[in-house]
Amino acid sequence: MGTPLDQLGPQPLELAPCPPAAEPGSACGRAGPVWLVPTGVDRGPAELADFTLEARVGGRVVVETGGVSRSLRVAGPSGLRAAVHGMRLKISVLRTFPAGPSALDPSDARAKELATAVVQDAAALWGQCGFALGGFALGGSALGTLGPDDVRVVDPPKAQLLEVGCDGGLPAQGGQVELATRAGPVKLITRPGESPGSIAVRLSLELERRGFVTRVAENPPIESGAGPSYDVSVAGRNASSPELRAPTAGKFTTDPTLGLCLGDLDLADGLQHFEDETARAGTLEERSLLRGLATAEQGTVGVLVVPYFSGRGRIGEAFIGGGGAPLENLVLLDRAGLRATARSSTLAHELGHVLLAQPGHPDDFGVDEPSRLMDADASDASAFGPRRLLLEECQRALTEHGPASAAPLLVPADTPQPD
Ligand SMILES: [Zn+2]
Repeated sequence: MGTPLDQLGPQPLELAPCPPAAEPGSACGRAGPVWLVPTGVDRGPAELADFTLEARVGGRVVVETGGVSRSLRVAGPSGLRAAVHGMRLKISVLRTFPAGPSALDPSDARAKELATAVVQDAAALWGQCGFALGGFALGGSALGTLGPDDVRVVDPPKAQLLEVGCDGGLPAQGGQVELATRAGPVKLITRPGESPGSIAVRLSLELERRGFVTRVAENPPIESGAGPSYDVSVAGRNASSPELRAPTAGKFTTDPTLGLCLGDLDLADGLQHFEDETARAGTLEERSLLRGLATAEQGTVGVLVVPYFSGRGRIGEAFIGGGGAPLENLVLLDRAGLRATARSSTLAHELGHVLLAQPGHPDDFGVDEPSRLMDADASDASAFGPRRLLLEECQRALTEHGPASAAPLLVPADTPQPD
């Protein structure tokens, strides 16, 4: 049996007719109903406190009466045949600079505690679908609890990102690309008509020849662009910085159409977040962070907590993949987003974009339904806040990321446990 979450009672018993199996002369009583709620907030008004019990999917409710104890498993919704699915989450709390304070607290231990509490609350809302998010051990009682390795405090990545074709993915007209590195200058002649993809590959080979470790990835084209741009992720051996910068002459390229941009990741001045135009690719600074951390672990959703986003209004972002998007199953959240989680369920909402594989919201074109988790702008810290999921949303999550999907995140966690 796992750690106790909540306790209710003693509950008053009402006399009730006995079931046929009861021994003759027995007296029978009935208690309840008792509502199981995912978090303390969902208890609702005080009058309901005597009828609600906090419970987690995958756990058990123990009933004790007259010295006899029985337990019942907390399962998923009956509309989904009570199935329980688990999903792994990996949480990385970023430091503002290497060896500096983390996004949440100067103490690493405290930062991990804060992150764990918020993630568990957010994950609990998905219990409505029978999903136990946040690390789980099949066959064990650790369902829905984050393990010690699932929450980490990490330095910003030392790897750097170059985007080839950053001016709308236009082909080259002919010129020279040049950059300074820790291992000396790297120069490349571009040919008229050559695509950014071809130049990215040649540049990466050139860098590897200097002893760097590189990776090339295609970005989805932006609406106003001619074609895709390409990211070249560059790391020094032993995870050192490649120290990429502009050449002394000041310009990365003399080619009139081929753009070359160097990602500048600085969490101290706020992470530049994406606007609609770049939504599928993320900004160059976001990609420098996400590609550099290499958090993409198959079947896992990565949650990254940064100090703050630059500009106003943005507190959380989801990278949902699909449609050629280069980054997937990642949620970015800043300190404000973590704080707003109680009011707006920000983290559970962003996880919803990933699970439903849907960037939009039910109220984007329709009626506001502020009690729904996926409502775009609801904010309310009570049980009536944006916390509810519909059965069809649970079904959609299983279609998109269930065990039989092309990109499974949710795996069956049905392990028979003795009473
Ligand atoms: Zn949203």
